[in-house]
Amino acid sequence: ETNFKANSQFKVHLDKQKAEGSSNFSRTKSIKEQREYLPIYASRADLCQLIRENSVVVIVGETGSGKTTQLVQYLMEEGYGERGMIGCTQPRRVAAMSVAKRVSDEIGVELGQEVGYAIRFEDCTSKKTVIKYMTDGILLRETLRESDVDHYSCIVMDEAHERSLNTDVLFGILRDVVARRNDLKLIVTSATMDAGKFSDFFGGVPIYNIPGRTFPVDVLWAKSTVEDYVESAVKQALQVHLSMDEGDILIFMPGQEAIEVTCDEIRTRLDEVDESPALALLPIYSQLPSDLQSKIFEKAPEGCRKCVVATNIAETSLTLDGIKYVIDAGYCKLKVFNPKIGMDSLQVYPISQANANQRSGRAGRTGAGTAFRLYTLSQYKSEMLLTTVPEIQRTNLSNVVLLLKSLNVDDLLKFHFMDPPPQDNMLNSMYSLWILNAMDNTGKLTDKGRLMVEFPMDPAMSKMLITSCDMNCSEEMLTIVSMLSVPTIFFRPRGREEDADTMREKFNVPESDHMTYLNVYTQWKKNGYKDSWATKHFIHAKAMRKVREVRSQLKEIMDSQKLKLVSCGAAWDIVRKCICAAYFHAAAKLKGLSEYVNIRTGMPCHLHPTSALYGMGYASDYVVYHELIMTSKEFMHVATAVEGEWLAELGPMFYSIKKSSKSRREAADKTMSNLEAMDAQFHKDKELMEKRRIA
Ligand code: ADP
Ligand code: MG
Repeated sequence: ETNFKANSQFKVHLDKQKAEGSSNFSRTKSIKEQREYLPIYASRADLCQLIRENSVVVIVGETGSGKTTQLVQYLMEEGYGERGMIGCTQPRRVAAMSVAKRVSDEIGVELGQEVGYAIRFEDCTSKKTVIKYMTDGILLRETLRESDVDHYSCIVMDEAHERSLNTDVLFGILRDVVARRNDLKLIVTSATMDAGKFSDFFGGVPIYNIPGRTFPVDVLWAKSTVEDYVESAVKQALQVHLSMDEGDILIFMPGQEAIEVTCDEIRTRLDEVDESPALALLPIYSQLPSDLQSKIFEKAPEGCRKCVVATNIAETSLTLDGIKYVIDAGYCKLKVFNPKIGMDSLQVYPISQANANQRSGRAGRTGAGTAFRLYTLSQYKSEMLLTTVPEIQRTNLSNVVLLLKSLNVDDLLKFHFMDPPPQDNMLNSMYSLWILNAMDNTGKLTDKGRLMVEFPMDPAMSKMLITSCDMNCSEEMLTIVSMLSVPTIFFRPRGREEDADTMREKFNVPESDHMTYLNVYTQWKKNGYKDSWATKHFIHAKAMRKVREVRSQLKEIMDSQKLKLVSCGAAWDIVRKCICAAYFHAAAKLKGLSEYVNIRTGMPCHLHPTSALYGMGYASDYVVYHELIMTSKEFMHVATAVEGEWLAELGPMFYSIKKSSKSRREAADKTMSNLEAMDAQFHKDKELMEKRRIA
């Protein structure tokens, strides 16, 4: 029994071209034939001419039309590669890596040679590289060194419709570059039709529409509100698999956890079915190891159905062939500035209508398909925005502000943004740079601020590393910062959770998760950096190798900035103090058993059960945390115990302690009562900044 209205009538007919698609296509055709079958191929001559005649061109084409993989090759074949590199930016790292691999295969060269990619902490290019895929963040950082991007003859800004923060900032920067460099070709591509905005931004440049080849998609809605989208998606997937025609399934989930649970559930329930047909279950999310990521492109063996469970990464960034059924949970994770905690937090939100339509469209790439939406039509109409709010309007911009300031954009309010960020957002971001002493009262970058820009990390992390040089614990801090720069260190295999937890506890440094990380790395190093040691201790060996690599890259930056590596030996308190020096803005005060409240905002924040500080019979009055993660509760992710005095000393704009002869505990309470006064100061400071228009 299905949860869907039988004959809902929302059909996407974008093109009535005759259905020629077949899921066997890529199995049977040569790469050349596959390339020539792509919709963009028929437009090649027109496109090339348009690019020859204009410095900036906007190209619109359905997902899968060949924009990402083909354009750069056309440009190379046209000879642009002889004048400089052909760069292509991607908002997502996974896409940059995967597409570079695909294109190197198409051309028949080794990845990292003529075709390469660069993402943060991973440069897979060489002197020979002509086609370079990279995240938009990488190109943005490159503009710091080379403001006119002279190494490039062409830049394709791909996935512009995503409106990622870095792409948006690049728009503003490159707009000026094309005015200065008439030999640069800038190509903006988008999967959606609203390209007029991009064209206008560059002064009314031509828009080219690649004629699509899409097939009708039946869109079916949930009859009533879905309580549990994982459960509902699992049921729907099984129903498709057990009773519907052949064709692959693509399920959209908001994030890694939901994806893993969905995969587990489908597998478990399928095992209960006698002689169930074969199903290849393939998860895809950004933190998935890259060898597993590439599996989603492989054809399932004959007679086996493929079911990909993805985040919005499969919406437009990666094109999968042969998908006939889409199951859309209707949610995605977004990074949004949370004024309550004064930081960004990643939370699950309903997708926009534009996302929903892209997701459904994935079912109609190679033949007619069906999309099951796990939300009602009225939810779609009343609860979903038309399009997602661009990242620049919803996240903390301190990184961007730091970068633009160092590019000598003094008046940020005058910077040419396609959609300017709300002024409040900008001021908050500047304020957070000011409290880190990256910016002075007049809005100029300080020496420390200039140094912070050198590191490809969040300002607070850079500050922590730089400060550690003054505090003589940079050897330790370099390791901690590197550990914080990779996703997950510990693993907890199903069925062995307890063993994993016990092992993990052995590394705990009771007063600090940061130091626990340091401890793990130190032990691994002592044991010869061995994979086997890591695996035995339920630690991801690959992640550790990455940490080591990140560490050496950051070390290089430190060397170039004449920042010294000094070890504090056994004097670990200084490390905690140094963490406090950069994270005092994220401080919490003990309230109950492993329960804290943010000192400045009163927002509850909990120690995570995996924290070294959790339930150790040792409860620090104050902690600072790396970030807050909102799942079932607000959890502090990576916390360290600090002294109240440190907070007052290092964060004088927020905290102060009235000196008294009373016990420390009472003195600490004073900190709380002083808080309101300091909060008032906070607003005064902000007003002051506003008055001075330091933007
Ligand atoms: P667009 O950018 O317009 O969405 P792409 O250039 O990404 O389109 O995709 C064109 C074709 O290349 C699609 O048919 C897609 O399946 C194929 N393709 C892209 N990346 C890979 C990959 N990593 N492995 C196999 N096929 C791929
Ligand atoms: Mg693409």
